[in-house]
Amino acid sequence: MTKFKLDAASGKEPIGLEPLKSPHGGPIIASEHDTDYLCFHCDFVLLKSVRKGAMRGLLLKCPRCNHLSISR
Ligand SMILES: [Zn+2]
Repeated sequence: MTKFKLDAASGKEPIGLEPLKSPHGGPIIASEHDTDYLCFHCDFVLLKSVRKGAMRGLLLKCPRCNHLSISR
């Protein structure tokens, strides 16, 4: 499994881009590919086993630390 740390959201994301939240405290999106994307702040796995590069432009709210990460 490859792991990438996400970038911190800058606060200048496009208006109307709503942060995605975890429904039950786990990864926000989980699939069956080979790349994990981690919260920039606490390394929580926000996108689990997704396809590399397939999840661009998502604003992601970490269920553990509440910081916002963005996928690029
Ligand atoms: Zn976090």
